[in-house]
Amino acid sequence: MNIGFIGTGHMGSKMAWRLLEAGHDLTVYDVVKNAAHDLLDKGAKWVDMPKAIAESCPVVITMLPGPVEVEETVYGASGLMAGWKKGDIYIDMSTSLPSTIRRVANDAKPKGVSVLDAPVSGGVVGAEAGTLSIMVGGDSSSLEKVRGDILEHIGNKIYHMGDIGCGSIAKICNNLIAFACSNINNEAFVLGVKAGIDAKKLWEVVMASSGSNRSLENWPRNVFLGNFEPGFKLNLALKDCRLALALSREYGVPLPVAATVEQRLLEAKAAGLGEKASTSTLLRLEELTGVKIRVQDL
Ligand code: NAD
Repeated sequence: MNIGFIGTGHMGSKMAWRLLEAGHDLTVYDVVKNAAHDLLDKGAKWVDMPKAIAESCPVVITMLPGPVEVEETVYGASGLMAGWKKGDIYIDMSTSLPSTIRRVANDAKPKGVSVLDAPVSGGVVGAEAGTLSIMVGGDSSSLEKVRGDILEHIGNKIYHMGDIGCGSIAKICNNLIAFACSNINNEAFVLGVKAGIDAKKLWEVVMASSGSNRSLENWPRNVFLGNFEPGFKLNLALKDCRLALALSREYGVPLPVAATVEQRLLEAKAAGLGEKASTSTLLRLEELTGVKIRVQDL
């Protein structure tokens, strides 16, 4: 199948790579051509605008930063909407707003284009291994058309969450939990070490106890080694936190913990850490307290 792929950054490049490995033809576009370098070397075809992808590919996937870029890609002068044909399928795998993808689905329907939102979780490691979880919104007949040939090469846990937009809602909720965990991990470890216990021992006991969580599980591979290169950029975490706050305003649900996490991320961004890993909020707390959470031998 000829698949169009737009947004070949940290995640998209790995997901698209797996589609090439599975034997699909791939046509790619990114605002930064160099981001698709490895894919082009492996045989992907380059085009200069999203419209050209919609014209030539029956299935188009986007993996973009967020709702602003999705809207630009769909509705821009040379956007997907200008090139879509009857029977096409569009899958947005970015972490974005349910209202954005619902608007796109509504506008694409008269052209006979089916739309799914299918954001993912599992990071660059999961993207490379094809072990992402995929949270899908949209009609099940469209999902079944792309499940086996496409989505199962990208992820091994596919959840149909409901109508269009429901995948995005699930992803926003998931990330809210993950960021809250990540930031409370920071506070607990800085407190524990400042108060006199060993970071390695604290990690071991928490991982065997009720405080254990996925973010902490990953610390031996990043935080403990002082590795704050993304992976997942702090700017994207801030964007996701704001998606949750936007949804909270829309539905009248107070999210005081999310608001605090947003401020933590904003503080780190103001300190110049926006393009570092989302875990780098720890660096600010370390600076304030004079404590460093580093463990080399785990
Ligand atoms: P990234 O910034 O590495 O990649 C985004 C890519 O989109 C870049 O190559 C950028 O040049 C391109 N781009 C930006 N605007 C564009 C436009 N208008 N047209 C075409 N290309 C454009 O981000 P990422 O880490 O790959 O994340 C992509 C999406 O996946 C985000 O929504 C993010 O929240 C989500 N996500 C990321 C991770 C992760 O661990 N990195 C995990 C799960 C979900």
